[in-house]
Amino acid sequence: MSIIVDAVRLLAARGLNQGASGNISMRLGDGFIITPSGVSAETLVADQLVAMDMEGHWSGSWKPSSEWRFHRDLYAAHPETQAVVHCHSPAATALAVLGKPLPAFHYMVAIAGGADVRCAPYATFGSQALSDGALAALSDRKACLLAHHGMISMGRDLAQAVDIAVEVEFLADLYLRLLPLGEPPRLPAAEMAVVLEKFKSYGANAQND
Ligand code: 13P
Ligand code: ZN
Repeated sequence: MSIIVDAVRLLAARGLNQGASGNISMRLGDGFIITPSGVSAETLVADQLVAMDMEGHWSGSWKPSSEWRFHRDLYAAHPETQAVVHCHSPAATALAVLGKPLPAFHYMVAIAGGADVRCAPYATFGSQALSDGALAALSDRKACLLAHHGMISMGRDLAQAVDIAVEVEFLADLYLRLLPLGEPPRLPAAEMAVVLEKFKSYGANAQND
């Protein structure tokens, strides 16, 4: 499971996480495997990853991420999801402090599965209330913001979940640059529907286009 450690380091190297902020999991058997709580990207090693079942049971000497509830609840609600990424990246978190969703101001917003990226209401980190809010914000979506906290992304594999987190951070940064000039113009709903349709085959393989 060193690909989880690699992904944690990649997010830190790209400035999407700092210190022990954020966490990553992958579906594993009937449960999932998740980063330990409070361990920084620099010191994390694969032996510290924690295997959990869907009831939240775990064993070993490392405590699972305090956010295991939303990881668990997302795997239960999204059978196609194989990986979940949570980060406190600067632009997405700044937008989340404002409680603002990312609107359809750029076509790449569709990478998160819809015409916007919603912002879940604030709840204490690690709480079931935070998980419940995230689950609602992630219905028909692959990413959401968490008010006064950060963002979550999910994917059919870990690479996709990381790509979506990186893209949402780019889009949030762009949006924050535009906001001082006034609310940026939006793409029409019909065009976002076209883009969402094209994304179903984008990058999948050469025969699909
Ligand atoms: P953990 O170190 O427990 O994963 O917590 C980090 C975090 O981002 C909490 O929301
Ligand atoms: Zn967090």
